[in-house]
Amino acid sequence: MTKRLGLIGYPVEHSLSPAFQQAALDALGIPVHYELWPTPPAELPTRIAALREPNVVGANVTVPHKEAVTRFVDSLAPRALRAGAVNTIVVRSNGLHGDNTDIPGFLFPLTRRGFPIGDLRVVLLGAGGAARAVVVAFADHRCRSLVIANRSLTRAQALVAEFGLGRALPLGTELLPELATADLLVNATSVGWDGHSSPIPPEWVEALPSHALVYDLTYRQTPLLAAAHTRGLATLDGLEMLVAQGAESFRLWFQTDPPYDLMLRAAIDARARRFGTNG
Ligand code: NDP
Repeated sequence: MTKRLGLIGYPVEHSLSPAFQQAALDALGIPVHYELWPTPPAELPTRIAALREPNVVGANVTVPHKEAVTRFVDSLAPRALRAGAVNTIVVRSNGLHGDNTDIPGFLFPLTRRGFPIGDLRVVLLGAGGAARAVVVAFADHRCRSLVIANRSLTRAQALVAEFGLGRALPLGTELLPELATADLLVNATSVGWDGHSSPIPPEWVEALPSHALVYDLTYRQTPLLAAAHTRGLATLDGLEMLVAQGAESFRLWFQTDPPYDLMLRAAIDARARRFGTNG
């Protein structure tokens, strides 16, 4: 019987995960099919229960279920506990194990480029689930300074209080002096997906030092990235993070290294089919 993996979320129809996960499975000759499992919130308990069927290897979890799923698994990896969110479920002989690979996934493109993680002055936009993974990453690997800026200031303040790390600011002009000394600007808000909107005025990238990197977790071109590129700054979109978190999930499911470059190529091709060649 062909074994199964899948992505639990709602909606999931436009996900790139099946393209790059199946490419890796096929390349390694692993007879597992990666599926889309669209799951409205009311159906989450049933969906998780179905993972206990014998032919299921595990799952990825995405919006809006990452937090809720922590209550349905039998064990949690320490980093998933700290993040309060699960994006990977591994079916083990003793039950369902929840982990969070967004944290190493976020760091991977930075370490691959030789960024000195522990020495960065970071401005983080957002205080939702993705921002939480970023904060856990910097709490574990340190950074020189961290400013968490969010539309709802109280959510940023809550993150600062929970992790004892950084300072909270609103998404206003108070950010400009922080940008002037930042090594890394991360957009972890959901703003930019439409290709038109931006969490801060894109021209604020003018305030960044010339060596700064602008990292937008959205895995397509955004106005923020376009403005940074025009200014001549280094930029990074969220596609490498997406593939890196998927590669780490793959390692957890199969205890073997997946072909990362092949997965990235498959993701780039799938993104081109979805958004056009420029993402
Ligand atoms: P959440 O819904 O948990 O958080 C959304 C964040 O965006 C909040 O900080 C929210 O602020 C902010 N926001 C939403 N609308 C606005 C607005 N109009 N103006 C200003 N801020 C706004 O989402 P996630 O954290 O799960 O995801 C955030 C982004 O990260 C998404 O684009 C997602 O696709 C991406 N992502 C990418 C990954 C990757 O692998 N590349 C992995 C995970 C996520 P407020 O608190 O005020 O509502």
